[in-house]
Amino acid sequence: MKVIKAGFNYSQDGPGNRLVFHLQGCNMHCPWCANPESMDVNGCMMVKDEGIINPSFQEYTVEELIEEAKECSGMFFSGGGVTISGGEPTLQFEELKAFLSGLHRNGIQTAIETNGTHPRIEELFPVLDLLIVDLKHIDDEIHKKFTGLSNKRTLETLKKAFLAKQKMWVRTPLIGGFNDKEEYAGKFAGFYRQYDTEHAGFELLLYHEYGKEKWRQCKMEYTMKDAFVDESIRGIYEEEYRENGLCVIRT
Ligand code: SF4
Repeated sequence: MKVIKAGFNYSQDGPGNRLVFHLQGCNMHCPWCANPESMDVNGCMMVKDEGIINPSFQEYTVEELIEEAKECSGMFFSGGGVTISGGEPTLQFEELKAFLSGLHRNGIQTAIETNGTHPRIEELFPVLDLLIVDLKHIDDEIHKKFTGLSNKRTLETLKKAFLAKQKMWVRTPLIGGFNDKEEYAGKFAGFYRQYDTEHAGFELLLYHEYGKEKWRQCKMEYTMKDAFVDESIRGIYEEEYRENGLCVIRT
């Protein structure tokens, strides 16, 4: 598998202390991406200030990654485990499935962070303790314009997961000039409330620029401007969600 980096993170990528693997490649191209080095499936060369040039990923076998996770299992406290993120982890679908199955077989809690576009994603549900899906916009035209892809497959994935009662966190990054209008909150909630959302938590994340420097290192232009959103927008979304019976979470 093509792995950009692996490291521990507490609670933001699933419950407890987790070993998070970021995989190479994404089928979207979000201009706010915090891991721009992950976008190209073939990777990129990252140029650091000291003039050091490194490829964005290294390759490992599924067996090597399972062994690494097993060796770290003493660190999975507070309900932790392994989260596989990206990029978009489902682009390496067969390897991802084998990796999750191996972790599950070894009693390690599993989660993935995905944009929800893979048409066979439900094949992962039996070996997935938590599915984390980003729905970036409910309006398909705006979604397409900013990410390069339709939101239709993501909506389909959410529907499948709700119907399967898959434990899930549904996340939306709130981004100025993209989805920060009050009117969108009701539209997102209107989609979710068609389903039984008992097994899902919903989180709104505020725009940040933590990945900006990496765009420069990958020789790509960071085009986002004035995209910070006020906390009050998050409050409006959260209130709308609660009024529609959705469980709002903050991690
Ligand atoms: S879907 Fe996620 S990983 Fe892919 S480009 Fe967008 S923000 Fe980056």
